[in-house]
Amino acid sequence: MKYSQTKPIVQESLNINVTEPEKIIIPSEMTRCGVLYVRSDMPSFQQTGVPALVVTEKKYGPKENPRIQNIYSMHFPGRYLDEYMNTEVYCPECGRQLVENGTLSCSLRHLPIGGTYTNLDIERRRLRCLNVKCRYNYTCPIDFKATDHLITVQLLCFTQDLLALHFSLKEVAHLTGLNQNTVKDIDRERLSSLYTVNGEGKVLKKPDSRAQFLAIDEFKLHNGHKYATVIIDLETGHILHLAHGRKKATVYEFIDRVGLDWMSSVKAVACDMNSDFEEAFRVRCPHLKIVYDYFHIVKNFNDKVVSEVRKDEQKRLIDEGRTEEAKALKKTKHILTSKRETLERKDKEA
Ligand SMILES: [Zn+2]
Repeated sequence: MKYSQTKPIVQESLNINVTEPEKIIIPSEMTRCGVLYVRSDMPSFQQTGVPALVVTEKKYGPKENPRIQNIYSMHFPGRYLDEYMNTEVYCPECGRQLVENGTLSCSLRHLPIGGTYTNLDIERRRLRCLNVKCRYNYTCPIDFKATDHLITVQLLCFTQDLLALHFSLKEVAHLTGLNQNTVKDIDRERLSSLYTVNGEGKVLKKPDSRAQFLAIDEFKLHNGHKYATVIIDLETGHILHLAHGRKKATVYEFIDRVGLDWMSSVKAVACDMNSDFEEAFRVRCPHLKIVYDYFHIVKNFNDKVVSEVRKDEQKRLIDEGRTEEAKALKKTKHILTSKRETLERKDKEA
């Protein structure tokens, strides 16, 4: 069924005195010992009963021998007091009066209470036009529901706060009871509003402050065949640019975004030994000093020198008939390329 988006008309002269929403009658169960009665800060939500505790099982770990954990969630029944409660409203299309036509129910996830998740099970009124030929019907949107998610605004704010505190998606999902994909969507929206022009998520903003030292590197994406490039401020560790591919174009894209004026305060860039990045920076910003970072120098030395020498040495020993000694060199790459401290630590652990 399609619901109208146009709001009903309220005729001021016909307004019946808007009275306070009914006083909540606290069921006797609630006034017993051991019950907390708290404000929800959602004046349009009226609790209509005692919350029901629902326990579900969640399985973790291997399928054959899973670890089972109980998930507790509390369901609060209630109704939505829309803005037209106790008001006569009229059809915006034909002018006839609107009447109540049943209710719609929906469940919104709300703030957890300790380890117990909470849900609001809400009934809200549907309004329909008295004119049988008119198809107008209307349901008031819930004012405390977060846009695009079946959660309350309060839970959305709490989720955003946890994300801003650098909790991982998994941790936030566990703390809030939300699906990890929902948390991911919320994080994407949060980051878009912080770091893109007008919060639209299309064009990245210029960095807030200038940087003196940058670092650029490429990394494999999950499927292992595609690459992405990241540019960071080496002093703060903040990510300044992230893009698919590992070509010069990525560097040009970054420079175009921040502008040559911004680049003029950058003194040096730490690169891996991929000459593409280096050349791209040299072409656009010749004042920059190019530095190879320690990790890539050591990695290159290990790959191209230590490993090769080991292979040559092994071959020489085999040629000289010293097979036992050649065998001893097998599988020694790790020992030869590790730091002494790492080896000592691993020995201790073993
Ligand atoms: Zn109508």
